[in-house]
Amino acid sequence: MSAFRFEPSSLPAETATLRQEIRAFLAEFSADWTASARAQSWDGFDPQFSRQMGARGWIGMTWPKRYGGSERSALERYVVLEEMLFAGAPVSFHWIADRQSGPLLLRFGSERQRCDILPRIARGELCFCIGLSEPDAGSDVANIRTRARQVDGGWRVTGSKLWTTNAHRAQYMIGLFRTAGDPSDRHAELSQFLVDLSRPGITVRPIRDLSGGEHFNEVVFEDALLPADALIGRAGEGWQQAMAELAYERSGPERFLSSIRALIELIRVLGPEASEEAAALIGRLTAQLVTLRNMSISVAGMLEAKRDPAIEAAVVKDLGGSFEQSLPEVIQAFAGLDLDAERGSDLQQVMAHLTLVVPSFSLRGGTREILRGIIARGLGLR
Ligand SMILES: Cc1cc2nc3c(=O)[nH]c(=O)nc-3n(C[C@H](O)[C@H](O)[C@H](O)COP(=O)(O)OP(=O)(O)OC[C@H]3O[C@@H](n4cnc5c(N)ncnc54)[C@H](O)[C@@H]3O)c2cc1C
Repeated sequence: MSAFRFEPSSLPAETATLRQEIRAFLAEFSADWTASARAQSWDGFDPQFSRQMGARGWIGMTWPKRYGGSERSALERYVVLEEMLFAGAPVSFHWIADRQSGPLLLRFGSERQRCDILPRIARGELCFCIGLSEPDAGSDVANIRTRARQVDGGWRVTGSKLWTTNAHRAQYMIGLFRTAGDPSDRHAELSQFLVDLSRPGITVRPIRDLSGGEHFNEVVFEDALLPADALIGRAGEGWQQAMAELAYERSGPERFLSSIRALIELIRVLGPEASEEAAALIGRLTAQLVTLRNMSISVAGMLEAKRDPAIEAAVVKDLGGSFEQSLPEVIQAFAGLDLDAERGSDLQQVMAHLTLVVPSFSLRGGTREILRGIIARGLGLR
């Protein structure tokens, strides 16, 4: 039986200077961010803010300089992510492109795709979305039915994608479509495409979520024509490519900091004279947080050393997701707040928002059950 292992890793000393630079930048930009807006962080959408980050070299920062990157380490990128999320910065415009779409194009894209797209992502000019899920293909991604048919001059796409975060504001989608065979072929015959969402035959319809926000969408393709060079990598290898892409999203600080604003506001309300009971609660939550951070930094260290920490990353997402999902519930059990999203205190407003969105934390990026299946398989238990 295999095992997983979190070797101790720490952020190198030179990241301290970078952290100071980021904090100075955030101090300049964050003056008018409300607690409620900060609680939304990676749902917070601000193209101007993304451009400011791009101008400082903080998007695509590990990529080669010839594609607009800064050739910095994964651990330096880690510091940028955790400072942004801790401050509740609005990073949604560039988040998916920086974390997934850019690295995917760097690895599998053509030279033309890399030269055209990556520098624009790094400047904070492009928003991407991920077109994997469909009405009958959520956890079961291999059941994809949206079809891309090769024709003279390119590919004709018909079908629909569901729950596509930011499709209504993105310029591009990385879409996974069936290019041959039928759904019974499962993983075979799937291919990835760089989809310019402004092309005719593509309709994006926002879906309102429980909190009233419109973050994800249905995207319908009606015989939409994509150019021949929209194919990413090789036809029929989209499944392997898409799974490699998902590995990029599983272990970062976004997997345990999504509801951190509730803890920050609670500590602020309690002040230095907190009761023993309150201090014990804060101590317990902080200990969990610090442990998750150490595990997550350990995964970042393994990625930097070009190792493959797939199981460790899934463990961090599973434990981190449980932590960030339970945090508002634990705080509410302690504080018994009136959750008023409009007129409440900062803590009440943050809690009102988070209580409505936390159920999604164990769905997005792969459900808890699917992740545990991956961990069990990795350990040789199934
Ligand atoms: C906020 C948010 C943003 C999202 N953004 C995107 C996006 O940008 N792009 C995108 O493509 N998708 C996106 N998704 C979709 C997300 O990836 C899917 O919701 C998720 O993969 C689950 O698929 P499903 O909703 O079809 O549920 P189902 O697959 O129908 O699952 C329903 C339940 O059954 C369980 N289940 C299913 N199969 C198994 C199994 N084999 N064993 C045990 N349990 C099982 C699941 O764990 C879950 O609890 C987003 C979802 C959310 C909530």
